[in-house]
Amino acid sequence: MTSYISLPQFEATLDERLRLVAAKCDACDTLTYPKRPICPSCGGDAFTDQPLSGKGEIYSFTHILGATVPSEFDEEQQISGDVCVAVLQLDEGPRLIARLADVTPDALEIGLRVEARVRKLYDQEGVQRYGLKFVPLQALGVLPRRPVRTRPA
Ligand SMILES: [Zn+2]
Repeated sequence: MTSYISLPQFEATLDERLRLVAAKCDACDTLTYPKRPICPSCGGDAFTDQPLSGKGEIYSFTHILGATVPSEFDEEQQISGDVCVAVLQLDEGPRLIARLADVTPDALEIGLRVEARVRKLYDQEGVQRYGLKFVPLQALGVLPRRPVRTRPA
């Protein structure tokens, strides 16, 4: 199983993918992410870009095992052994399906606070793809800090 996204299609959506830019309907202020050509609330077709905070919580989740993992994530599964995916409720309102990082399946729970981080996704057509994964705030708080480098005197 592969979820193929061509390089031109991937590059065309980088702003949306890496900066979490939503579409705010000019008629009714509904936020949609990912962007859609028509507002799901009022049918309007005029939007203004609105960056999202990248903060939210787990609405639902799953842990993908073994042969059911899309082939582009084979390398990650070999390294971490786990592929965790969640439906997230962002603080601004939109829900999205996203990959999780820095969490084990037994730590997943509905309502767990998460925050977006740019991470390596997979290699496809010889190009390393990066995108957002969501990391539990607890994991961000307990990660070891990098040592501060000082300039030689
Ligand atoms: Zn609308």
